[in-house]
Amino acid sequence: TEAAGFEFVDYDAAQMLLQPRRKQAHKGDCGHTLIIAGSTGKTGAAAMSANSAVRAGAGLVTVAIPASLNAIMEVKTTEAMSLPLPDADAGFLGEAAYDPIMAVAAGKASVAIGPGISRNPSTSVLVQRVVNDLDQPLIIDADGLHALSENREVLLHRKSSVVILTPHPGEMANLAGITTAEVEKDRIGIAGDLSAKYNVILLLKGARTIIATPDGEIAINGSGNPGMASGGMGDVLTGILAALIAQGYAPFAACKLGAFLHGFSADLVAAEKGEIGISAVDVQEWLPYAFKKLS
Ligand code: AMP
Ligand code: MG
Repeated sequence: TEAAGFEFVDYDAAQMLLQPRRKQAHKGDCGHTLIIAGSTGKTGAAAMSANSAVRAGAGLVTVAIPASLNAIMEVKTTEAMSLPLPDADAGFLGEAAYDPIMAVAAGKASVAIGPGISRNPSTSVLVQRVVNDLDQPLIIDADGLHALSENREVLLHRKSSVVILTPHPGEMANLAGITTAEVEKDRIGIAGDLSAKYNVILLLKGARTIIATPDGEIAINGSGNPGMASGGMGDVLTGILAALIAQGYAPFAACKLGAFLHGFSADLVAAEKGEIGISAVDVQEWLPYAFKKLS
């Protein structure tokens, strides 16, 4: 499909999207997000997504993780609550987590799934079932995208009307069944095609993140720097998007504002520390300044 035109998301465009918080706001107004993430060796991904959702203004954050990792998560997240779910293999979620996830997701303002959740086969089946059956707005990233690449039908049959996929080029290639080089040759075209095919918002990450909607809208993010080329950065974005959706931003607006804030926070960190050695937790912790500088 031919896009109507590209929208470049710079400081001014992002500023227009940012909504002030009501003076009388309470945490119930600001949304409760559920993040389903983490496995043995990847509790950091779950923690960064959850803590970034806190830093991006979610009213409440619950992070669902394998029970055997709960003690670790209790230490890594303070404001976020953890929800221990039955392990399949030790440190990995499986189908026994399906019922408790469906129960806890009821009434949540957004659900993010995938950061560090692993490619364990039983976990992938769980992800497929949950993505198929939840009707909340969904943000799907990382290993969650891997699970969908193994069963793309889920995207066509799912119940949720708002689904945001956040692949990096490798994950995008896997989803589209092409090579990463092919993705990089036509980032806008491929993001637009997959967005339309699956009726999802496709946020294709990279030095110029592309956001494509099924209606043919295309936005290109202008913030960020090469200091972000390090592990965990994507997990921070997932938490930001989950928080913005939970706070009531419309999905496309949330993606544009979220991508901008993510890169802008990293730009503020880089202005202070330089680009080399920036960590994802730095970007997470700078988010309040990014909001402040944008308001
Ligand atoms: P992930 O690969 O999932 O950890 O995601 C990496 C995140 O960092 C994405 O949001 C990218 O857009 C961002 N990022 C990585 N490298 C750059 C870069 N050179 N310039 C701007 N943003 C970047
Ligand atoms: Mg990632």
